Amino acid sequence: MNTSGRQCGDCTLCCKVMAIEELAKPANAWCPHCRPGHGCRIYADRPAECRSFSCVWLVNELLEEHWKPSKSKLVLTTSEDGLEVRCDPGFPDAWRKEPFRSELQEWALSGETLDMTVVVIVGQRMTLVTAEREFDLGIVGPDERIVRELEGTKVVNATVARASDLEQ
Ligand code: SF4
Ligand code: SF4
Repeated sequence: MNTSGRQCGDCTLCCKVMAIEELAKPANAWCPHCRPGHGCRIYADRPAECRSFSCVWLVNELLEEHWKPSKSKLVLTTSEDGLEVRCDPGFPDAWRKEPFRSELQEWALSGETLDMTVVVIVGQRMTLVTAEREFDLGIVGPDERIVRELEGTKVVNATVARASDLEQ
């Protein structure tokens, strides 16, 4: 339930950047049911995935107004590993602009002690952001995982490995 009082309004960016399995809609392509900037043509009958989705900006007022996805071009979600930032591929450098980049670095720093990561996704490419640098991970497939090398709580390297190899 959304208790923040915020509403999507003119934002429809999740209907572009998120994949919707039920519709076989890939990430980073507008949903055929979306009227960008207006809303969903099949709102009453939209898939369960869409009904249950809320980005972090929508539900968490701690995220300031400038993060609204329609303005920032960034859709934030949480995962078991931390924060995922999906950047509108039409504005691939949006996350590098200020104040976004500095705030992402601050969150990465405070996440270190909690073992939480900040990952930016632009198209198919992923970048792990830390307080001091960024690790371009390239295209990370659904069966692949990010492997971090730590010195204490600080990330000093990041690579990608197949999940099945990590389980062995
Ligand atoms: S990205 Fe967030 S604010 Fe924008 S339409 Fe989706 S849920 Fe609403
Ligand atoms: S069905 Fe509607 S809510 Fe779901 S992605 Fe498409 S336009 Fe967005």
